[in-house]
Amino acid sequence: MNRMKMKTEILPAEGEAIAKAADLLRRGELVALPTETVYGIAADARNGAAVAKIFVAKGRPQDNPLILHIPDASWLTRYCEDVPDAAYKLAESFWPGPLTMILKKKPCVPLRTTGGLETVGMRCPDHAVTRAIIEASGVPVAAPSANTSGRPSCTTAEHVREDMWGKIDGIVDGGPCQVGVESTIIDLTVTPPQLLRPGGLPLESLRDALGDDEHGRIGNPGDVLANLSVGRHIDRAGGVIKNEHARMLEQRARDAQALLLTARKRIGALVELVLDLVPENDLFQAFDYGFFDVSVILNAVYA
Ligand code: AMP
Ligand code: MG
Repeated sequence: MNRMKMKTEILPAEGEAIAKAADLLRRGELVALPTETVYGIAADARNGAAVAKIFVAKGRPQDNPLILHIPDASWLTRYCEDVPDAAYKLAESFWPGPLTMILKKKPCVPLRTTGGLETVGMRCPDHAVTRAIIEASGVPVAAPSANTSGRPSCTTAEHVREDMWGKIDGIVDGGPCQVGVESTIIDLTVTPPQLLRPGGLPLESLRDALGDDEHGRIGNPGDVLANLSVGRHIDRAGGVIKNEHARMLEQRARDAQALLLTARKRIGALVELVLDLVPENDLFQAFDYGFFDVSVILNAVYA
């Protein structure tokens, strides 16, 4: 099927539409859902084919890890291994809300969703309708921002319609999002926990919630920079790999351009030399004499 010609349905954020959106998600379709920050394109995070459609709709690189959205902390153990007490403490204080916790993933979460990582980001959005839809669908949803890669994130259903029309199956119109910053991300797979991305929740409130034990000593972004684990984070999030790759491609393009310039100069010199040698400076005769034999040209370029 041509995904660009898909029928997109606008669904109200109430009544039967909730069951309809839930049904679309269960069937592996894409539905834009409102959250407290921005609209997300949601898909069943356990379904690799559904998740692949998100990347197609967004035009987003496939190595970017997606965050799982769940209706409450009781779902953590379905998708995460060895959930530490700290996760429940934080969930109690800040969920629903803009806090993403990185935990060890269970095998039911495909690597396609986590960008190849053995860990997974978990979040419970502060939007009652979206939580009701996820609850009714019975599936955790991966939901990156509902916009074409490189375009601004959408904070109204109308913006989503303009950007995603014909690329997704449904848009739940939950009105404008409260304008907010993106979720704070904390990695609970390391001791002490590490702040990976500052966001809606200040570090101090996270420390307060975790109390005075070793979990309270969250590494802050300064520490992270000092011990270079910011590289590890970005690396895990795919950023460094992408930047490294982009840098390598740029370097190759520069090398190729330099080589081409050298080649042009040398071939130019060869042509001038050859033209001096053949009667009447006739290029065709130069070919006849074999002066433009491939090996002659290669010798001229790489000499
Ligand atoms: P968002 O832009 O709010 O959809 O969040 C996606 C970002 O969360 C990714 O680009 C990563 O920076 C981060 N992220 C998601 N999952 C993980 C993970 N398992 N480990 C580290 N960072 C993650
Ligand atoms: Mg975005």
